[in-house]
Amino acid sequence: MDLNAINKEVCDAGVQLCEMGLTAGTWGNVSERIDDDYMYIKPSGIDYYKLAPCDMVKVNIHDLSYEGNLKPSTETPLHAAIYVARPNINAVIHNHSTNACIVAAAHKDIPPILDDMVQIVGGSIRVSKYGLPGSDELTKNGMIALEGRNAAILANHGPVCIGRNMKEAFVICQIVEKAARVFVDVQALGGPVCISDENVQFMRSFFLEEYGQKKEG
Ligand code: 13P
Ligand code: ZN
Repeated sequence: MDLNAINKEVCDAGVQLCEMGLTAGTWGNVSERIDDDYMYIKPSGIDYYKLAPCDMVKVNIHDLSYEGNLKPSTETPLHAAIYVARPNINAVIHNHSTNACIVAAAHKDIPPILDDMVQIVGGSIRVSKYGLPGSDELTKNGMIALEGRNAAILANHGPVCIGRNMKEAFVICQIVEKAARVFVDVQALGGPVCISDENVQFMRSFFLEEYGQKKEG
């Protein structure tokens, strides 16, 4: 993808987050990998509806230096750390969706309760330890909660969803929010019955290696 296509995807995803009610105002942040050294990330604290693709900030993921006059998102260190640590991840979305925020406020991991969730996230959705927005603690704790997963929930804050591409990261946001809603509501029915570790592993491998139109053999 060329640079213009990447910054457009980042810009459009922000508007889509608002349209779908997964965030509001200027909160949340979206980025996409450019290559081994750079990402585009949305600038900090500007209304998604006022941003154009050319406003996305090009940031070096190793030293966090950036180009242009707009300050990159507060959560730039977390996005950068993800791209450095996870070479197959090309898009990161952090949002403040309601049910995930309930779970974030309770500091309760979402156990493996739904097939789609374990396939695309890789198992339970952990809530990280607390860190202030933009802090080293938030980055460190978020990275720990993301280990072996494609999503985690930042304590008292909101989800971070990471995908091989923007489309996948976006679907993960939707699946995380749905899983959080189910987890909250199923308490009224006596609490969830979880999927076994064995079945979680099976479905995760199936999703990554066979699901859909992947060629056999
Ligand atoms: P930015 O506007 O700086 O991206 O911050 C929003 C946010 O959600 C911080 O966690
Ligand atoms: Zn946030």
